[in-house]
Amino acid sequence: MRNLIVILGDQLDMHSAAWADIDPADDAVWMAECASEATHVWSHKARIALFLAAMRHFRDALRERGLTVHYRELDAADDDGLVACLERDLERLKPRKLIVVEPGEWRLRSDFLHLQARLEGRIEVRLREDTHFMCSHDAFDTWMRGRRQPRMEHFYRRLRREYDLLMDGDAPRGGRWNFDHDNRAAFGRDGPPADLPPHRSFAPDTCTRDVLTLVAERFADHPGRLDHFDWPVTRAQALEALEDFIAHRLPRFGRWQDAMWDELPPHRAALYHARLSAALNLKLLDPREVCRAACDALDRGDAPLEAVEGFVRQILGWREYVRGLYWHRMPAHAEDNALDAQAELPAFYWTGDTDMNCLRGCLRDTLDTGYAHHIQRLMVTGLYALLLGVEPRQVHAWYLAIYVDAVEWVELPNVIGMSQWADGGIMASKPYIASGKYIERMSNYCASCRFRPGDTTGPRACPFTVLYWDFLDRHRERFADHPRLKLQVRNLDRRDAQELQQIRRQARKLRDA
Ligand code: FAD
Ligand code: SF4
Repeated sequence: MRNLIVILGDQLDMHSAAWADIDPADDAVWMAECASEATHVWSHKARIALFLAAMRHFRDALRERGLTVHYRELDAADDDGLVACLERDLERLKPRKLIVVEPGEWRLRSDFLHLQARLEGRIEVRLREDTHFMCSHDAFDTWMRGRRQPRMEHFYRRLRREYDLLMDGDAPRGGRWNFDHDNRAAFGRDGPPADLPPHRSFAPDTCTRDVLTLVAERFADHPGRLDHFDWPVTRAQALEALEDFIAHRLPRFGRWQDAMWDELPPHRAALYHARLSAALNLKLLDPREVCRAACDALDRGDAPLEAVEGFVRQILGWREYVRGLYWHRMPAHAEDNALDAQAELPAFYWTGDTDMNCLRGCLRDTLDTGYAHHIQRLMVTGLYALLLGVEPRQVHAWYLAIYVDAVEWVELPNVIGMSQWADGGIMASKPYIASGKYIERMSNYCASCRFRPGDTTGPRACPFTVLYWDFLDRHRERFADHPRLKLQVRNLDRRDAQELQQIRRQARKLRDA
């Protein structure tokens, strides 16, 4: 055998750098389902099932194209980890060269670098850069050079120019780079419009059903449910999901990007969000085609500029930016804890068993499907952990386990940097903190909650509100002169001493609980 091409579970891309010089007659592919990849964090059943189902469909598609695929299924003997299994198979298959597209996780990349060193002189190991992304490592590092305070907005503008997306010559289309101010509406009392479209749902075929049975048996004690599993698991399905979003939800995506609503059935719970992150992260979709599809909708007059800009910003801006920051800052990034947070992650994060209605609703959505939209992740589950002062590594382990789209390069910077402000301001200029009043404004969660978002003390005080003031109190010194937080610190100083004592006591109780 000439080359053995390793395809990892999140590299299901027929156009990846792995295939650059493939010769089907002389080369073969290696793929493996390893239990350790599903258990190194306590993964949601749907996350495990999605990876396995998508991998098996990809294997079948490769075989249909005439490629030889050596595929280890989950129940194979000698499952002692991905690289160990590969190393054993190398003894048997004896390729001259091993080709791997760089993994999306620091841990696995280190494993492959060690393998490369061990095999030196015997088998050449080529680690190729992942061309799925629109910004290379070199381009990101060059952009970062000399920037003390990097900002996503500047990075995003650079990529807009480079890819000529939403541009009129050198100027942004519509005269503005950013339509965030038009994109922050809440639904109001009546809730989402009655014609809120359901997302396109994919009924599991035989292959996926086999995986669902396997996961239900093998990972029975893992969190989450499988009975709502309807994720796209092939390239064709991912393209259908993209088309469905562009046609039915993109036009209103921007306006209600930050809104939340409780008690919707699972096929409407994503509201106007794309629900494409898992297909993108598995590489079933290419970010260029996703951005292009949104811009084409604008050109056809099918979606307004503020929606398309808001959406392109997420993919071209945030997605590329967090990936750049991850590789730029790892491995130290995983240890960040700028606010010295040491509390334990509450056990109810794994069960949804809490009387805080917003958390119960977001956790229910998450456990049902492995999905919650961005504001649920940032301003409910993430916010509570931040205000409570949970150790960032525990928050990171939870997010990596619980969402179907979780891969470390995108999950870790979002959690450590954006949501927990553990990097001390590299990712976000200030911590995303808010009291229960924010959740009340953006959702209907508070209407049926036993707590009151405006109460800071007493039996019905909203835990978010109590912890918000307590957070400002605990970090008063750090933020007293912060340009974007000093006003909130001044508001804290207006509270009378007795009330502040009471807030501290209630916050301590919440932490002890
Ligand atoms: P939409 O809201 O419709 O956005 C469209 C696309 O933009 C997404 O599919 C995604 O690819 C991209 N995108 C949007 N926001 C971000 C962002 N902040 N970072 C990177 N890409 C973004 N995203 C993941 O893909 N995997 C994760 O593990 C993950 N963990 C997160 C953890 C926290 C604490 C937070 C605050 C955000 C996290 N995100 C993660 C980012 C974002 O919440 C999800 O990408 C988004 O909710 C996925 O749903 P969607 O496809 O409906 O996205
Ligand atoms: Fe959440 Fe507080 Fe509103 Fe209850 S009152 S739903 S705990 S923000």
